[in-house]
Amino acid sequence: MKLHFIATIFVASILFIACNTTKKATAEVEPTKPEATEFWTPVPNVVKPGNSNGQAPADAIVLFDGNNFGEWEHLDGSAVKWTLNDGAVTVQPKAGDIRTKRSFGSCQLHIEWRTPSVVKGTSQGRGNSGIFFQERYELQVLDNYDNPTYTNGQASSIYKQTRPLVNACKGPGEWQTYDAIYTAPVFDAQGKKIKSGMITVLHNGVLTQLNTEIQGTTEYIGWPKNVAHGEAPFKLQDHGDLVSYRNIWVRRL
Ligand code: MG
Repeated sequence: MKLHFIATIFVASILFIACNTTKKATAEVEPTKPEATEFWTPVPNVVKPGNSNGQAPADAIVLFDGNNFGEWEHLDGSAVKWTLNDGAVTVQPKAGDIRTKRSFGSCQLHIEWRTPSVVKGTSQGRGNSGIFFQERYELQVLDNYDNPTYTNGQASSIYKQTRPLVNACKGPGEWQTYDAIYTAPVFDAQGKKIKSGMITVLHNGVLTQLNTEIQGTTEYIGWPKNVAHGEAPFKLQDHGDLVSYRNIWVRRL
């Protein structure tokens, strides 16, 4: 009986090794025809790109086109009290942050921003605002043109976490762009984070964050926190400075 059991295990092991060897061998057979490495399906969707740099592609959700605040509200759900002028929305100091009515997870974001042409203040007190992914993770907006501050608080930093690769700021009063690719963090059923959020950012077309791990929530004081959440709105920060935004669109990934 014991011998029979050992023999069964032996045969099973041989079969297992044989199967895996065959599989591996198949995968490693070098193709001899070009067609062997041409895959025709599935076919990517056709997306009509914008006509100009930064214009929304056909499959984007336009969050702000300069005409109204239809996609936005304050954090208490009230109507937006920021100002609408010349196709741009400008922070109304003390009115509070605004956020999108819709929620998002992993996405591609395009947003344009401008700090005041009249320079006032220094360091974090100059042209400060911010774009929060999923209401929690801040991509810093700051007039960082010839304005020293802590590096992980610079424009295009993941605030209080990761400094930008370079400082690609334009001057005060000039329109600037962020193009970001964001993958949301993943939590298990117990609420434990099993995969961090990641972000790649182009600031004025210059790479400033490459596959940067988001360590957790943006905290002004203390370390990042990780509490489970699902899709959530974008939030724009009222930091008391007259920062403007325009041409905001997002593509779900
Ligand atoms: Mg900020």
